[in-house]
Amino acid sequence: MKISYIGTGYVGQVSATVSAHYGHDVILVDIDQEKVKSINQGKPTIFEKDLDEMLYDLVINKKKIHATLDTHQAVLDTEASFICVGTPDRGGMIDLSYIQNVSKSIGLALKEKDQFHLVIVKSTVVPGTTIKTVLPILEEFSGKKAGIDFGIAMNPEFLREGLAVSDNIDPDNIVIGTQDEKSKMMLKEIYSWADEKKFTTVNVTAAEAIKYAQNSFLAMKITFANEWANYCDFMGIDAKEVLDAIGADRRISPMFLRNGPGYGGSCFPKDVEAIVQSGQVNHSPFRILEEVIAVNNKQYLHLIDLAKSKVGSISRRKVGILGLSFKPDTDDIRESPALKIISYLVSQGCEIKAYCPQGIKMAKEWLADNRINDIKYAKSAEECVQDVEFVLIPTDWPEFRDILSKITVPTFVGHRSFVNPDDYENVYSLGYPKK
Ligand code: NAD
Repeated sequence: MKISYIGTGYVGQVSATVSAHYGHDVILVDIDQEKVKSINQGKPTIFEKDLDEMLYDLVINKKKIHATLDTHQAVLDTEASFICVGTPDRGGMIDLSYIQNVSKSIGLALKEKDQFHLVIVKSTVVPGTTIKTVLPILEEFSGKKAGIDFGIAMNPEFLREGLAVSDNIDPDNIVIGTQDEKSKMMLKEIYSWADEKKFTTVNVTAAEAIKYAQNSFLAMKITFANEWANYCDFMGIDAKEVLDAIGADRRISPMFLRNGPGYGGSCFPKDVEAIVQSGQVNHSPFRILEEVIAVNNKQYLHLIDLAKSKVGSISRRKVGILGLSFKPDTDDIRESPALKIISYLVSQGCEIKAYCPQGIKMAKEWLADNRINDIKYAKSAEECVQDVEFVLIPTDWPEFRDILSKITVPTFVGHRSFVNPDDYENVYSLGYPKK
């Protein structure tokens, strides 16, 4: 099929690449000229394992993907369009302005189109958005009727950054939310390469809800692990022993059951906020998720408290920070606990030297936007831990393990599963009560 992906971020770039890998002809659309240029040179604008080679091959050799700034033409030239633009948080509420703008552009293009066209919302949107916001805009600007002249569908994305390509190639679940049979069949055709058992077919609003139920459950599971680790610290218990043991129970599972300095990223924080807000507005509050937000907002402070408990006052100290991205194997720094920690330490007059294998470029932009300019960036982990008084490791990039034995100053690790602190004289971890 000919398919357009509107919005060339983590979701658009990866889904479009995998779609082309399975044989579709793909157009990627963005309003950012630099992204469009880069894609047309076969270069991804994000860091994801395997994406470089695949995108280069599909753009340059196989000519299955091209990028453009022109949404209108992309809709005219394809049979289906995925909406993959951002749905960021604005003061605890979901910002639908990008979705609304794209819906309008698609609607105007549909007005000129005789053939049936399927519009699929892939962005994460609160239940009700596709039917109450996207559909009316499409109908208004196209002058056409959903279910007759064009189709509407919701197909949430479940990729994990860092594993986005493999998650897309071999997904656990493909959720297809539709209102009419033709749209359902078209969307199944787009995923015709997938095993039939992977499909969950529901209505549009249920598809929207599934995405929030999943993300909020995972955020809650991480927060549960974090609170247990905080408790274990006080009780003199190794949190890893407790979490590993309960994770071995198949009803619980070990996935997302590791403690750390809090969840971050572009999805969990904003999605939990958005569904809590939707619960409040719809008179069905999610009390448990309200607490998840409150606990997570403070979790990064536990790593700072651990450092204080060993080095005393942290005011005006020289600190090395290893890891800026919100988790390993990604360059994404959105809502990263590392940046909350840096902001706090800077407010205490600390001098920061930071290093991250992939996150420095984005972190620099974020810190500059937040008027935090006096950060030194090291070229390597080795350089980062020189001439500092202590080191914090909020993000557990596996390569940082190699340097631990060489660090001579106290070092504080966010994730207990990253390392056994007893293997090193100077290393301490959240969830591990080392004397
Ligand atoms: P992103 O911010 O990385 O990318 C969004 C892109 O949309 C940007 O390149 C932006 O320039 C572009 N854009 C904005 N307005 C546009 C317009 N009018 N026309 C064309 N392009 C436009 O976002 P993302 O991380 O890819 O997330 C996209 C959606 O998918 C969000 O709703 C997010 O919650 C959801 N999601 C993200 C992930 C993830 O891990 N990143 C996983 C699952 C779901």
